[in-house]
Amino acid sequence: MASAADAAPALAPATRIEAAFEELRSKHRILVEESCACCCSCGHAHCRGELARHPEAVGYAFFHAQDLDFVADGELWLGHAARDDLLDRIVPLVMRSVLEDHGFEADWSGSPEVRLRVLVPEGPERAYFRRMLEEEWADYDDDEEEGCEEEDCEEGEGPDDQEAAGGESGSGSAAGAAAGTEG
Ligand SMILES: [Zn+2]
Repeated sequence: MASAADAAPALAPATRIEAAFEELRSKHRILVEESCACCCSCGHAHCRGELARHPEAVGYAFFHAQDLDFVADGELWLGHAARDDLLDRIVPLVMRSVLEDHGFEADWSGSPEVRLRVLVPEGPERAYFRRMLEEEWADYDDDEEEGCEEEDCEEGEGPDDQEAAGGESGSGSAAGAAAGTEG
């Protein structure tokens, strides 16, 4: 995404939230994965994979499909993590700063495990997420959702070749992800 933006003059993003996400990606090298998984632990698993594929990235932010329900009430919760533990607190601070630059209210507790909350005003910003929610519902799969609630959530995310790799670090990351999951 960032390299494509370098190659061609980018169209101005249609919404402020898209502009903020794009700035995080291109300027601050923080991956932003939108509606990237079914739940928090699968979201972290997905993003760790993306981090491995993008050596230039310093960290990531994401929201998952269930988070879209909360945006209907005006709150977007962004999970986050850094490649380097030293940046665990920097990544969410940069996120908050960029989001505020684009006119959003955002707050974060200061704890790396806690997600960042963004207030999404009614209008085009919330409509952006509403469209995404409608797309999620369009290809909603009940079986997938049930499978996720069980323990194959962490290992079942990726293709087969990732399953072996997931086994090595699976127990540790699963515990961490479970601790960071709320609601
Ligand atoms: Zn899941």
